[in-house]
Amino acid sequence: MELEISRWFKDNSDEIAEISERIFNLAEAAYEEHNSSKTIADYLASYGFKTESGIGGMPTAFRSRWGKGKPVIGFLGEYDALPGLNQGREPYYTGDKSRNGHGCGHNLLGAGSAAAAAALARALEAQGRQGTIVYYGCPAEETLEGKIKMMEAGCFKELDAALSWHPLDCNMAGEAKYQVMDSIEFAFTGVYAHAAVEPHLGRSALDACELMNVGVNYLREHVPDDVRMHYCYLNAGEKPNIVPGYARVLYYIRNKDRRVLDDVTARVTKVAEGAALMTGTEVSARVRIRGSETILNNKLIQHLYEIMTQIDIPEYTDEEKEFMKVLAKNAGLPAAAGELCREINPPTGKPVDIGGSTDLSSVSQIVPTGFIFTSCLPKGVSLHHWACTACAGSSVGNKGMLYAAKVLAQCGYDLIADEALLEQVKKAYLETQEG
Ligand SMILES: [Zn+2]
Repeated sequence: MELEISRWFKDNSDEIAEISERIFNLAEAAYEEHNSSKTIADYLASYGFKTESGIGGMPTAFRSRWGKGKPVIGFLGEYDALPGLNQGREPYYTGDKSRNGHGCGHNLLGAGSAAAAAALARALEAQGRQGTIVYYGCPAEETLEGKIKMMEAGCFKELDAALSWHPLDCNMAGEAKYQVMDSIEFAFTGVYAHAAVEPHLGRSALDACELMNVGVNYLREHVPDDVRMHYCYLNAGEKPNIVPGYARVLYYIRNKDRRVLDDVTARVTKVAEGAALMTGTEVSARVRIRGSETILNNKLIQHLYEIMTQIDIPEYTDEEKEFMKVLAKNAGLPAAAGELCREINPPTGKPVDIGGSTDLSSVSQIVPTGFIFTSCLPKGVSLHHWACTACAGSSVGNKGMLYAAKVLAQCGYDLIADEALLEQVKKAYLETQEG
C-alpha cells in the first residue's frame, strides 16, 4: 500500500471507528439522517473538504470536494438505518422493534468511504499531486431513491470513476449484478361511510388494496421464478367504524432483467386497476423510482481484487470469534455457524446475481463504478436482520470497514497516479456502453 495511506490508517483508525459508532447510535432512517450526514461532512471539513448540502432537494444529501483539476474520483457513502432493526452490541436479541437500527451496516459504509476520501486527500497533499476527490453523502439508499435524485440534480457526471463498498459476509471485488427494482405507490380512493350504520354507502379503498394484493399473489405463479414482488401498506384506514376512503400500498418489484421487469410492472399495474374496478374505487400509480441494471467494470474489478490481495486481511481475536459463534446460534439462520471469512473471492469473469437492489446501479450506468464487499458479518448472516445490526456495531464490523477503506483509498490513489490505469477503466466502461 502507498506509504502515506498506510501511515494515515495507523494514526486515524480509532477516529473512523468513533464516527461509525456515532452513526450506529444515531440510527437515522431514510431522509432523517440529519446528524449522521453532518457527522461525516464535519469530519471531511476537518480535512479541508468543501461541502455543498441539500443536493437534489434532500437536506441530508451532500457533496464534499477536495483538491483541484483532473482526474476526479468519487467515493460514495451511505448512512441510513432501517425501521424496526434496532439492536445493541450483544450477540443475542436486545432490540426494540419500534426503533431504527443499522441492519445493513450503512454506519460502516458511510464512515469507511469517508476514511478512504480523507486518507487519499492526505496522500495527494503529501506528494503534491493534482486531482479532485469528491465524497458523495447519499441518503435514503434503503428506499433506493437517494442516488437517483442526486443524479437528476446532475451529480456524478463530473467523475472519472466512482468507488464504493458494502459490508457483507465475504471479501470480494464487486462482481455482483444487483436486481433492477421498480418502486411504485398505488393509492386507492373510495368513499368514507359509517361502517356499521351505512356500510352500503362506502367504497373501501382498503378492500381495493387487499384485492390488489390477492391478485398479485395469484400473478406470482405466472411470472418467471426470479421475479420478486413485495409490498407493505402505507395507509390502511384509521378506525374500524369508518369504511376507509383512502388507502395506499407500496410495491417493490424486481428482476435482474429490465425487459422482464417492465412486463411484470405493467401486469401488476393492471391488477391494481382490476381491484379498483371491483371495489368502485379509483387508483393512481406513482412511480417512486425506476431502477437500473448494474454495469460492471472488469478493469476496476480486477484492480480492486489485486489491491485486496496486497493489503493485510483482518485477523480476529478469540473473543471476536466466540462472539460471532454465539450470535449465529442465537440468530437461528440456517446457513450461519459464526465462521468469519478470511479469504478473498477471485473474479470469475461471470457476474454473481445478488437478490437485493441498490441505487449504486444507476450510478454505474453513467460513470465507471467499482465496488467491493468486505467481511463484516459471519458467513450466512443476512443483511436486514437484527444479527447484522449487532455486527455493524461490533469490532469485527470495524475491521471490515477499515479494510474496505484502505482498499478504496489505494484504488483512488492508483486511478490518480496511474494515467494508463484510468484510461483502461474508461475503455472498459465504454465497451459496456457499446455492447
Ligand atoms: Zn445496504
